[in-house]
Amino acid sequence: MLQMAGRMSVLGTETAFEVLARANALAAQGRSIVNLGIGQPDFPTPEHIVEAGRKALADGHHGYTAANGIPQLRTAVAADLYRRHRVEVSPDRVLVVPGGKVTMFFAILMLGEPGVEILYPNPGFPIYESVIRFSGATAVPIPLYEGAGFSFSAAEVLDKITPRTRLIIINSPANPTGGVVPRAELDRLVAGLEHHPQVAVLSDEIYGEILYDGAEHVSLLRYPSIRDRVILLDGWSKTYAMTGWRMGYGVWPQALFAAAERLAINCHSCVNAAAQFAGLAALTGPREPVERMVRAFAERREFIVEALNGLPGIRCARPGGAFYTFPNITGTGLDSRSLQNRLLEEAGVATISGTSFGAFGEGYLRFSYANSREAIEDAIGRMRRLLGNLPIAAAARAAS
Ligand code: PLP
Repeated sequence: MLQMAGRMSVLGTETAFEVLARANALAAQGRSIVNLGIGQPDFPTPEHIVEAGRKALADGHHGYTAANGIPQLRTAVAADLYRRHRVEVSPDRVLVVPGGKVTMFFAILMLGEPGVEILYPNPGFPIYESVIRFSGATAVPIPLYEGAGFSFSAAEVLDKITPRTRLIIINSPANPTGGVVPRAELDRLVAGLEHHPQVAVLSDEIYGEILYDGAEHVSLLRYPSIRDRVILLDGWSKTYAMTGWRMGYGVWPQALFAAAERLAINCHSCVNAAAQFAGLAALTGPREPVERMVRAFAERREFIVEALNGLPGIRCARPGGAFYTFPNITGTGLDSRSLQNRLLEEAGVATISGTSFGAFGEGYLRFSYANSREAIEDAIGRMRRLLGNLPIAAAARAAS
């Protein structure tokens, strides 16, 4: 009988991949499925980036690179951070990794162990809670509130800090809510953190360039008082439609960099060489493809929020960033998982139950609007038919 380490029993997963598998299985049986579940841009990687990857292969970049990434890429990351945030970051603190997730995995493994507490957003990206538990640390949820645009309250976060707290995870703009933490709330958080010098912050800013209404992204790197304990997680997946290239980076505090690099050497040696050249072209090339994609997301956001608000039992706040909406579905009379399943099985619409993002996600569903306007319209029509037949809708019609 094979026996696994005990910690494997607490490792969670990302339900989005399970929903995708189920949606694909239904499609393979001939069912028509509209996928608003998966969190990746529906645009192709811009051509100049693909060409740079192709050229790197033709030029013979087939071998290992430095574990932390090719030097010109790390310099380009530092320059890009300066362009976006006016913050000087030494390329020596940049660790290029295969996807944004790896920075998260490394940071939590490096700081988490039994007896330690790690604060994380809930509802939030499910891998935070999963890896915290895997590390043996205690996962302490930071609740996010619909009424506050799915931001946290800095006072509440600061209240949860104990002498055992070693790491706080912040994600803005956020998955699954599209919420953006207001600058004033970040200011309050940082001011409070100045009294807790033992606490590191993992700032997941992977959606930092997908923002609407002219909003400016405020990176936690901008705050000098905590800069020496911020781990910045960012990458290419969302901004440049490069999810499959597996390209991400972390900016690490000097005190943690060598350990993070050692984890990289123990784990993946280095990132795919050609992908790194593609990532370089992304950072140094034209911004127009990114801007065009964000404009398209902005138009779809307008459409989907209004359309969802027109459905029985659904109330949808306007997200400030990313490409997700997280409508409140309590008015349908169904719990999140049941509605997710019925939408997929009966209407052929793939969405993700809010509970896939933590216990505080009950009462919500995540919709990704990284899909065409036609697909979104189709999904809304299917939902209207399903929701119109629910007993609660019939009761509402009878009462009116
Ligand atoms: N962080 C958040 C909040 C995400 O939503 C995702 C992907 O969905 C990631 C990190 C991971 O990105 P990557 O695909 O680059 O590993």
